[in-house]
Amino acid sequence: MVIGKDGSGKRYDHLVRDCFRSGGYVFAGKAGDIARKEGITRVARLGSNENPNPPSPGAIRLGSTALNEANRYPDETLDLLVQCLSRTYGPYDFITGVGMDGVIETLIRTLVSPGDRVAVATPTFSFYGLAGMAQSAEVVPVGRNKDYSVDPGLFIDAAGNAKISFLCSPNNPTGTITPFKDVTEILSGIDGVLFLDNAYVEFCDVDYLPLMKDYENLVIGRTMSKAYALAGARVGYAFAPAWLLPYFRRASTPFTLNSVSARAAIGALEDRGSMEAYVRHVRLWRERYVMECSFPVAPSGANFIMADVSPWTGDAMVRELAVRGVIVRSCASFPGLPDHFIRVSVGADWENELFLKEIRSIREAGSGLTARKQGAP
Ligand SMILES: *Cc1c(COP(=O)(O)O)cnc(C)c1O
Repeated sequence: MVIGKDGSGKRYDHLVRDCFRSGGYVFAGKAGDIARKEGITRVARLGSNENPNPPSPGAIRLGSTALNEANRYPDETLDLLVQCLSRTYGPYDFITGVGMDGVIETLIRTLVSPGDRVAVATPTFSFYGLAGMAQSAEVVPVGRNKDYSVDPGLFIDAAGNAKISFLCSPNNPTGTITPFKDVTEILSGIDGVLFLDNAYVEFCDVDYLPLMKDYENLVIGRTMSKAYALAGARVGYAFAPAWLLPYFRRASTPFTLNSVSARAAIGALEDRGSMEAYVRHVRLWRERYVMECSFPVAPSGANFIMADVSPWTGDAMVRELAVRGVIVRSCASFPGLPDHFIRVSVGADWENELFLKEIRSIREAGSGLTARKQGAP
């Protein structure tokens, strides 16, 4: 029997809301845990689509300097960051947050009341649905075609009366790019806001920004976590229509993005050489992954690929690679996807080489590993 610290035996966990009783975001394996468990010193970290290099020198310089003034609250309107974004991209309106995840969460809080619909082009990044559920929304998954492209007509039918719908391009985890004209068709066809998640847009050739001047219901989300190598700093922002800004501000916590991260982001946006080099590196490796992965790979516009590893399950392949010192992500937790896919980031040369070598050897060992194929531990 539970006595409790005060001896009363009272329990409090029934107070927790139903939507948080199970589930939640699924993370990639931790390098430290895997190294310890498998007795390896170097682990290839290809599970979270991070840039394997440090932030640019400019980002490190400005972030470090900002720490000197961290006794003060940040500027609540983040003027310097917003000005830097305008210098970089042009005269748009911006909203910011603690990672793009923070932008998504606040935007849902701004627009969605309990019971409102939130549509999501699925399979995709799981956080849209989780954030919608946390706001007691009715989350409506909209299936993609067999090749993971979006059917605009189907999307419009499902998302027509949703307060907000989510479309990720290039899509996580499939890598699929939604063509500009399909996004146009969707924007004209729906009544709510479209959140176009461009976390990986730096790695592809489509520029969706011109849409901002024609549509008042478009928000384009960006992050400093992937191409810009600032995942740990948690900086996200979005291009947003002007009407949304005051409401978004009211819905957000008084101070969101911290002053150190905001200055590091400015440094990264002003000093882009290392980001551009990483993008070139990704484009080369993406091709090699397609040719040398030894399992079918979907075409990708991002810094990762998704491979179909059947007859292995994604979970079994993740365990098999972890033993060999390579962290990749199983796609089993992505709603709407069968259980036999893995997502593999483009990391540093040695990490990518190690992944290709190990997955080839797993494939060749083939039948010797059948017990694991079924997902046995
Ligand atoms: C990584 C990722 C994000 C979140 O980025 P943060 O800015 O680190 O919160 C958002 N959307 C997609 C599709 C992502 O893959």
